[in-house]
Amino acid sequence: MDDEKITPNRIDEIISAEIPDIEIDKDLHDIVSKNMIHGPCGSLNNNSLCVSDGKCTGYPRDLLAENITGNDGYPLYRRRSTEDG
Ligand SMILES: [Zn+2]
Repeated sequence: MDDEKITPNRIDEIISAEIPDIEIDKDLHDIVSKNMIHGPCGSLNNNSLCVSDGKCTGYPRDLLAENITGNDGYPLYRRRSTEDG
């Protein structure tokens, strides 16, 4: 089963979970900003499915310098800190 796991390099080729640079591709930036951003939830929307005890249970994710493949095969996407760019 392990050899069927997708590698971080392969993920980098097909997926980014970051918002595209508006200077590089404004159309893509607008599409992602409009359709791929989580929320509002928590204090702004307690009826959201992700909310438990008034807090979002799904986000924010941990900061990661690179995409990695989790032990369950599910990818953990890069989420860079300000220092990482
Ligand atoms: Zn949420």
